Amino acid sequence: MTEPTALLRVERVEAAYQGTIVALHDVSLNVRRGEIHALLGANGAGKSTTLKAVSNLLPAERGRITAGRIVFDGHDVTRATPAQLVRLGLVPVLEGRHCFPSLTVEENLVTGALGRDARRAEIEQGLEKVYAIFPRLKERRRSPAGLTSGGEQQMTAIGRALLARPRLLVLDEPSMGLAPKVVQDIFQRLRRLNQSEGLSILVAEQNSTVALRYADNATVVEAGHTVLSGTAHALRGREDIRHFYFGGEVAAPAAA
Ligand code: ATP
Repeated sequence: MTEPTALLRVERVEAAYQGTIVALHDVSLNVRRGEIHALLGANGAGKSTTLKAVSNLLPAERGRITAGRIVFDGHDVTRATPAQLVRLGLVPVLEGRHCFPSLTVEENLVTGALGRDARRAEIEQGLEKVYAIFPRLKERRRSPAGLTSGGEQQMTAIGRALLARPRLLVLDEPSMGLAPKVVQDIFQRLRRLNQSEGLSILVAEQNSTVALRYADNATVVEAGHTVLSGTAHALRGREDIRHFYFGGEVAAPAAA
């Protein structure tokens, strides 16, 4: 369905790696301005591939979009480089956090501003903002990122993306490998940021419980297909769907 106010439109996207491995068959979703949109699905469903497609990072993995289109704020993402997309405000935080381990937390954060020719004063301002959202990073700012905890590294990766001044933050599985309390804390802070600044967020998560608690809307992918989308509130109520797609045993089909 076309959504005129959408900041990001993913329309019936098919994508393949190495020309033959079809990872996405038919994925559609809309991220409206100012919303948190959760992309949910089991392991291997196609969440990371969708986010890489959105950020035009598939070619780096010998992948490409083979059908459909992705439009960010009026721009066809396949016609822009990932760096150009960052400058347009589409900033990804990929799975695995990817901090530079030997750089300090603060140096990692500053790398987020490098692509946009920021002045020192602007960087300072950006750092203060990140430290206001994640006070823990201020305490750890002189520590090599590689010596900080998993939660602190995730906050550093998000903070670095914030230094790039996103309009759409694209996050891949921020909960991965983190304790439930740390995950809640990160989502709460993202929610506050979303509410105070109107920052739009597209977040892929296998942890549907936490994602649906903080998201406005959600899309569910299974085996490279969009199978469900709606408000997080409506999806929270669908225990059957939750059970089916996100863990536990896959229910056996009812006998005919
Ligand atoms: P996960 O939570 O495990 O990251 P996901 O929902 O993000 O799962 P994807 O990583 O997008 O799923 O994977 C979708 C499909 O594409 C899988 O079958 C996977 O094996 C395949 N795939 C992913 N990356 C590549 C790659 N670089 N080359 C070939 N196939 C890939």
